[in-house]
Amino acid sequence: MNFDSVVQLAAEGRLYPSVILYGSGQEERQQAALEIARSFLCLNPVPQRPCAVHGLEPCRHCRRLVWPAKGEELFHPDLHVLERDLRTSTSVAATKEFLVQAYSSPFEARGQVYVIAEADTLGGAAADALLKLLEEPPTRTPRQFLLLAASQLDLLVTLRSRSLAVFLGSREGLETDLIEPVSQDLAMALDAFFEDAAAIHLLSAADILGRFDGWQDPRARRPWAMAAAALVHYLEMRSLEPRQRRAILDLAQELLEGPRWRMRGITQSRLLEGWIVRWLSPLAPSMT
Ligand SMILES: [Zn+2]
Repeated sequence: MNFDSVVQLAAEGRLYPSVILYGSGQEERQQAALEIARSFLCLNPVPQRPCAVHGLEPCRHCRRLVWPAKGEELFHPDLHVLERDLRTSTSVAATKEFLVQAYSSPFEARGQVYVIAEADTLGGAAADALLKLLEEPPTRTPRQFLLLAASQLDLLVTLRSRSLAVFLGSREGLETDLIEPVSQDLAMALDAFFEDAAAIHLLSAADILGRFDGWQDPRARRPWAMAAAALVHYLEMRSLEPRQRRAILDLAQELLEGPRWRMRGITQSRLLEGWIVRWLSPLAPSMT
């Protein structure tokens, strides 16, 4: 699912209770979490949530839904943020203390938002405490849990299976100068496909994404992240229809699962071809 639909569902109060926001950089993940929080708690009528996005003066909730900073005056009592407290993990004690707030009512807004800033550092016991809360909500108060991580593969499977995963774009720390030329060639192949619907262009798109280095190690995530980033960069180069954008983002998201399939002995070229054909062939223009 793409980010705009997620914000829309949050505004309507219909978003899945637990959402994983992954990809892109740390700052972007935090901003994405805040936008969902604002959409979820904004005082304006549904079509105008969150106010800032619709060019309105921020309401008294949206104005204070900001990332907590030391010495910061603005804060919203119904936004709870858990940051990593130990050097390598988010401790069980801190997680339990954080979650215990969900057993009381919101202070001012109609619901509460819980953000776990580095959800990939939650260990088994901390994750269990969160899962218990998701499975047996203590009250009917609307609650939104947002789990932030660079890669969803780093989250425990139990959390992933009970959350909606939303990909925010290419990961930080990837060499953009390597991505750029691949995106250029990819754009040419896909332009040709959208022109004449010939499957050969999809196979060359798979070839082009396979040009990144590092496929030898089946556990390597980097080449998959680079390929996903090239797709996202391609989206920035072309203005496509929403249906096409969605399919390409879904494809990028699927690519990040690559290492899991490589570990089962499937080659990267088969995976790339299979996924590209699956996501993109339905977008072929009808040749009448
Ligand atoms: Zn608002």
